[in-house]
Amino acid sequence: MSEATPRNSKTLSPADSGRDVSVKGWAQEIRNLGGISFLIIRDRHGIVQVTAPKKKVAPEVMTVLGGLSRESVVKVTGVAKAAEQAKGGVEVVPSSIEVLSAAASPLPMGVVDKVNVEADTRFDNRFMDLRRPEARAVFEIKSMVLDLIGDFLTGEGFLEVFTPKIVASGAEGGATLFQLKYFEQMAYLAQSPQLYKQMLMSTGLDRVFEIGPAFRAEHSDTVRHVSEFISFDGELAFIDSMNDVLDVVERCCQSVIGGIVKNAAPQLETLNASVTVPRAPYPVIEYCDAVEMVQGTGMHIDLGDDLGTEGEKALGEIMKEKGHDMYWIVEYPEEAKPFYIMEKDGTPYSYSFDLDYKGQEISSGGQREHRYDRLVQRMQGKGLDPSAFNFYLDAFRFGMPPHGGWGLGVERLVQKMLDLPNIRETILFPRDRIRLVP
Ligand code: ATP
Ligand code: MG
Repeated sequence: MSEATPRNSKTLSPADSGRDVSVKGWAQEIRNLGGISFLIIRDRHGIVQVTAPKKKVAPEVMTVLGGLSRESVVKVTGVAKAAEQAKGGVEVVPSSIEVLSAAASPLPMGVVDKVNVEADTRFDNRFMDLRRPEARAVFEIKSMVLDLIGDFLTGEGFLEVFTPKIVASGAEGGATLFQLKYFEQMAYLAQSPQLYKQMLMSTGLDRVFEIGPAFRAEHSDTVRHVSEFISFDGELAFIDSMNDVLDVVERCCQSVIGGIVKNAAPQLETLNASVTVPRAPYPVIEYCDAVEMVQGTGMHIDLGDDLGTEGEKALGEIMKEKGHDMYWIVEYPEEAKPFYIMEKDGTPYSYSFDLDYKGQEISSGGQREHRYDRLVQRMQGKGLDPSAFNFYLDAFRFGMPPHGGWGLGVERLVQKMLDLPNIRETILFPRDRIRLVP
């Protein structure tokens, strides 16, 4: 007996006509119409039609088809046959159907049915939900985004690093720290690699980036916060000003979104999404002006306030009118920013920035305070005890170049790029205040 050639929905083509082939996948649809049965097999890339005319296939095959449950995993061996009416112009006439794993029924949720399934049901049964091509396409795009980030930054001379996720102190304020017992001590899950990437600036590794998990105990339930996300961080030394940081982040975002437009056409089609590369250069809006713009919409906000979700959205609308999806908001009040941000002397402001994409913050960063005395003063001013940060402060006492950097939420970038309503769609197994399983 000649060996069947393994094929899948991507590799099987009308050119295989007459060839013995085998395909594996999930039984998405089974239709037994008396004289003929159809089986649609789904794999990662699409579907293959198996057509079994009763007169032409063995009775055992018809028996298997008759008892097959939806979503079972099967291996079909048979002859490929060009067929205009089948997807891809080719079908398989089976000589054997092996059930590799029978699916129980009823299914916890449908895969192809167009009924609206509650988000909770989907996330409770995420393995099943991810069988939907449009759910999976997001992760193919996310994976490409990560590759594109790495390619761009490596090309710019950045070194990829990994800093600890179990840490002794937080960097972004106590309210969102997750505490854990670490042998005989208390420790925390890292909210960001901030302190470590800054310490690296004193080592000679003068351009680093990290893509890794960040943990935050976010108490409010929003469509843009989760308690575990992938943070894309960068830090660069010997900068002349904060603009050096803006320049790298802007070019990186352009390169990533441009790469998706160029390489992800099939996934974007599956998602029915159209992505456009933002207009560059991104406008730079000073914080004070941003507040005024938001006030101009009739929204109540005071100078010194955070723009907040609604303020960010309002600003997003204004910028959209002007043809801009991406824009910078710079020079926030020093008070509103963490201790490690450099103050703009003689003003209440700071060398800080946010990058907003379609009305939502996706990145924050700035120039860092590299002068030891000033850094200690800032910590004290924010009610922090510098002695808890000695491991960090020491790196500033023995030669620390001027530096700056950013943190960018990968999922927020993907969410806004694809216009997804909820950040959870971009996370395989999201974590939030309520959800810890699966
Ligand atoms: P926000 O004001 O939206 O809560 P933040 O200013 O507290 O965000 P940063 O400390 O600036 O967040 O973190 C840098 C980036 O990390 C953010 O711009 C965002 O893209 C991402 N990020 C922060 N917190 C979360 C979260 N809980 N879930 C998903 N992404 C997050
Ligand atoms: Mg921020």
